[in-house]
Amino acid sequence: MSTPDQRINELREELNRHNHAYYVENSPVISDYDYDMMMKELEKLEKEHPELDDPLSPSHRVGSDITKGFIQVAHERPMLSLGNTYSIEEVDEWVERCNDSLGNSGGLRSVPIVGEMKFDGTSISLMYENGRLVRAVTRGDGVKGDDVTENIKTIRSIPLTLQGNDYPKSFEIRGEIVLPWKAFDRLNEERAFNEEPLFANPRNAAAGTLKMQNSAEVSRRGLDAYFYYLLSDELPCDNHYDNMMLARKWGFKVSHLMTLLHSINEVDAFIKRLDVERKELPVATDGLVFKVNNLRQQLNLGYTAKSPRWAIAYKFAAERALTRLRFVSFEVGRMGVITPVANLEPVLLSGTIVKRASLHNEDIVKNLDIHDHDMLYVEKGGEIIPKITGVDIAAREEGAQRIKFITHCPDCGTSLIRIPGEASWLCPNKYGCRPQIIGRLEHYVGRHAMDIEGVGEENAALLYEAGLVKDIADFYTLRNSELEKLERVGPRTAQRITDGVEASKSVPFERVVYSLSIPFVGETVARKLARGVGNIDALMTMSHDELTAIDDIGPKIADAIIEYFAVPGNRQIIERLREAGVQMSMPQTDMSGYTDILAGKTIVISGVFEKYSREEYKAMIEKNGGKNAGSISKKTTFVLAGENMGPSKLEKARSLGVPIIYENQFLEMLREE
Ligand code: AMP
Ligand code: ZN
Repeated sequence: MSTPDQRINELREELNRHNHAYYVENSPVISDYDYDMMMKELEKLEKEHPELDDPLSPSHRVGSDITKGFIQVAHERPMLSLGNTYSIEEVDEWVERCNDSLGNSGGLRSVPIVGEMKFDGTSISLMYENGRLVRAVTRGDGVKGDDVTENIKTIRSIPLTLQGNDYPKSFEIRGEIVLPWKAFDRLNEERAFNEEPLFANPRNAAAGTLKMQNSAEVSRRGLDAYFYYLLSDELPCDNHYDNMMLARKWGFKVSHLMTLLHSINEVDAFIKRLDVERKELPVATDGLVFKVNNLRQQLNLGYTAKSPRWAIAYKFAAERALTRLRFVSFEVGRMGVITPVANLEPVLLSGTIVKRASLHNEDIVKNLDIHDHDMLYVEKGGEIIPKITGVDIAAREEGAQRIKFITHCPDCGTSLIRIPGEASWLCPNKYGCRPQIIGRLEHYVGRHAMDIEGVGEENAALLYEAGLVKDIADFYTLRNSELEKLERVGPRTAQRITDGVEASKSVPFERVVYSLSIPFVGETVARKLARGVGNIDALMTMSHDELTAIDDIGPKIADAIIEYFAVPGNRQIIERLREAGVQMSMPQTDMSGYTDILAGKTIVISGVFEKYSREEYKAMIEKNGGKNAGSISKKTTFVLAGENMGPSKLEKARSLGVPIIYENQFLEMLREE
């Protein structure tokens, strides 16, 4: 056993390290729960041994999110932290304590308490003068924060000017900037495509996004904001709840789950109800916050050094399990990035069996300090992806070796390289390394790329192994007869594959650019490039300066494009795709006519048409954001049918309940908007 002195130092060091990972790097390596437990242990020891206290101990700080590159502004009123607990009993005790301190001995009835969601994002303070937003500042270290007004202005749910006329002339409103689940998933999908490190959770993504220097990018990412506290010398009401209801009228997003509670029973029932309902919310929450409603009572209860006594956070513990590491595998991605993966003894967690969890990169493996056969904590918060949050060191086998990162590609044996300043190792053997080749094929047929129905991601590997497809241009040489010879491929599947390949020829140029697997060219960049350059020949010959002149194309992307087209094999692939009939330029038609009326819709064209040709209809679908597919499936949104639609297609559509839309209805649909 260590002495209290040693333990206190250990805890302070650990907590400082985690504070840095959390606030500065936006990539925590331990769970909130473990962090909170460590903090509680430290607070308890410091209380028991006042002689060991230190004003610089992490227990006395609010943690800091100050970032260089932003101007710092002092808060008019400090932004404090909240006392927190994971236990309902402690919430009940807090309610009792508030009642006692306020001299309320009214039996079952408590002083009014407001229950609200604890949104899991990053806190913000907004200042309004005469109904106009004048400044937005992050919490920072609680005393001063970063001025992020420009970025905040891009968040559409934040009112820049207020509605009504009953707001105070000058006030501050505090809330939480969040990245909704949908936007978070989209962002990580994009980062996965670029093999950039993923954000661990929406909170880190929100915090990271708010601190970006490019507010156009901030705008694109889709942040949102919820507000939960109003401060002013001239508040309209004498209680928190009514003030928030007014703030909602002025235009602020205030959660409808905010509820007035009048007894411990109501508080407990609120906790039970919200622990279920929060799973349906569009944004991440990590608990609930309870606040004494009456402002005079808040004042009477006052503050500790770190947090108000009139509020408490109840945190939901993420479900976690302990299981043994079988081994760490190293997987090679499409761009050559090596990802370490923990292969685990299967364990049940939040209703699913977990066998694998990504360890992301070498730094994370190092930080966790994983050894062979360690017992690992696996956690699933709101996130769907399981995460390793710690090691049970006591259970470590004697003589177990620390996990070493590999030095050579597990597949092709090439020596790995690490790009300076990045966390990941790469296999540089782009064109000879099997998982990279298959990865590119899978990407090409994927739903967001050429969407070749029938091939699907699993079949891409099969076609490669069979020697039928070695690069993306080979898809266009596939014949039914040769496909049918494959195991597991019958005539129907073969037909679906060749139909899908055929349909991919009308996929617009911008998605073709995305499908090529040029490093850093994700969906958005591909769209910008395609619209900026117009056709493949221009793209292939553009100089670095010409490329970076395009909106949002930086030097890193420009380098990647030039490097890609400098490879003779890649240029040959482009020529073969062009010969096959793949779109290599933006359509000649007026590009301003683009809409997204058909966005997200997959449409199958069948039959002979009167008003326009099949090709014209295909172009119309693409132009309005829809996708053409070769054959009818559950994913088909509707069939655009002309005369003489084939009877088998008609039957298929009926049996799957896919609607059939005729020419005139379709044209009507496009006109409507
Ligand atoms: P903590 O960071 O764990 O000390 O928790 C305090 C933080 O919770 C505050 O700084 C806010 O950013 C955040 N928070 C989220 N929802 C609420 C809410 N409804 N009321 C107060 N704070 C909230
Ligand atoms: Zn390799």
